[in-house]
This record gives sequence, structure tokens and C-alpha cells, in this order.
Amino acid sequence: MNIILLGYPGAGKGTQAEILVKEYDFEHISTGDMIRKEIALATPLGKAVEKGISQGNLVRDEQIIKLVEQVLKRGRQSHIFDGFPRTIPQAESLRISLSVLRQKIDYVLFLELSKEEVIKRLTSRRVCSKCGAIFNIYDKSFTGSCSCGGNLITRSDDTLESAKHRLEVFEKQTRPLVDYYESSIGVKRLDASKEAREVHNEILRAIGLKK
Ligand code: ADP
Ligand code: ZN
Repeated sequence: MNIILLGYPGAGKGTQAEILVKEYDFEHISTGDMIRKEIALATPLGKAVEKGISQGNLVRDEQIIKLVEQVLKRGRQSHIFDGFPRTIPQAESLRISLSVLRQKIDYVLFLELSKEEVIKRLTSRRVCSKCGAIFNIYDKSFTGSCSCGGNLITRSDDTLESAKHRLEVFEKQTRPLVDYYESSIGVKRLDASKEAREVHNEILRAIGLKK
């Protein structure tokens, strides 16, 4: 089964993908995580995109598509696409790659959240520099540290300025994907303002894994 998670940055795509991967046999494809790894390792790609990302701009389609192709080559049957596709050319490329593998997109889920809530979540988000776990400083369970012992950091693109810009980028480049999928597979909308566990249950119902 292949699922695409759409939604504003900060809507909870990464958090939900992590929960699903723990419970079911999905390969998590987060292009954001892949790109951050390239940056951390200071690869040629990482160095080329570092500045643009911290400003909230997208990475070029060809560069992103190449990264995704490498994961699809592993031949897994179930994937969760988190942060990909983000543009129409990326969606077209994914459609073709999956058809070569005799696979298809089964569900497109849109995690809905207001812009105000997004800005609040992004600027209060912290991530573990070692294992990538996602936290929020307003969570009751927030302790300021990760169970793996890694340091919590603020992503360079989670500043107020960059977060606002990412919302504009979403409207221009990613919003058209909603119509694109609406007219083919269909898009299921979920209320992402709820607590993570509740959103998870809604996702399970939407993809037929729970009544
Ligand atoms: P968020 O969903 O919180 O914005 P991600 O971790 O998905 O964060 O992405 C962070 C950044 O990585 C994006 O702002 C963009 O610069 C780059 N990126 C990730 N996925 C893509 C993609 N599919 N196409 C282009 N750029 C991408
Ligand atoms: Zn950690």
C-alpha cells in the first residue's frame, strides 16, 4: 500500500509517518530527512542546497527525484511519502516510477491545519540531533531531552521568517497537487489539529485499517 501525506509544513506528516511505520510495515520516505542527512554529511548535494533550505525554498525537482528513486529501488511494496511529492513534476515522476514497479498510490491524505497553528507549531518544534525524533516545547510530556541522549535543536528553517515563507511556497507549488490528486485518486481530508494519537486513528480509518 502506498500513501501520500499532504499538508502544510508542521501539520504533523513526519510525526504520523513515524507512528505508522512503528506499527505497520511501511518504508518511510521523508525527502526532508533525506536532504537534512545530505547536509549533515556535507555531501556535494547537501552543500548545494543548505542555504536555500534554511530560507524555506524547495530543492530542485531533479535532485529530489533522484533521492526518491534510490529508495524505490529497494523494491518495498508499501511506502509512506512524507513531504514528497511537493510539485506537479514530482507527482508525475512518482506516478511513472510506481507504474514501472507495478505499484500505484492507494491513498492521498491531506492533514488540515490553520496557518496560525502551523506557525505556532513550527516555531515551537525541536528535533533530536541524533535520532531525529520530533518534539514540541508546549507538550505536557516535553522534558527538554530525548530518550536516546541526543541534543534537541531548532531546525534552521523553523524561524518565524522561514516558516512564513514555507507557507507561501506551499500555496504556490504544492497546493496544485490537491487538485491533481482530487481529479484522479481522490484526497481524504483529516483534522490535524487534534492530538497526534487521535489523528493516527483517523488515518487508520481513512486507509481501511480500522473501523
Ligand atoms: P516540512 O514539511 O516541515 O516543511 P520537510 O522536512 O518535509 O519539512 O522539508 C524541509 C525542507 O526540505 C523543505 O522546506 C524543502 O526545502 C526541502 N524539501 C523536502 N522535500 C522536498 C521536495 N519534495 N521537493 C523540494 N524540496 C523539498
Ligand atoms: Zn533522540
